[in-house]
Amino acid sequence: MAVRCPECESDLELDGYDLDVGELINCPECSVELKIASTDPVTVALPPE
Ligand SMILES: [Zn+2]
Repeated sequence: MAVRCPECESDLELDGYDLDVGELINCPECSVELKIASTDPVTVALPPE
C-alpha cells in the first residue's frame, strides 16, 4: 500500500502504520504536512493553510 505525496510526488510507504482519518503525517522526502483523508484506500491531502 502506497500513496503519492501531492507535493513532491514521492511514493510514501505506509505499510505498518495505524492511520486514522484526520491524522497528520510528514512526507519523508519534502517534509510537507499531509492529512489522512481516508484509510480504505489510504489517500492523503494537503491540509488547508
Ligand atoms: Zn513529499
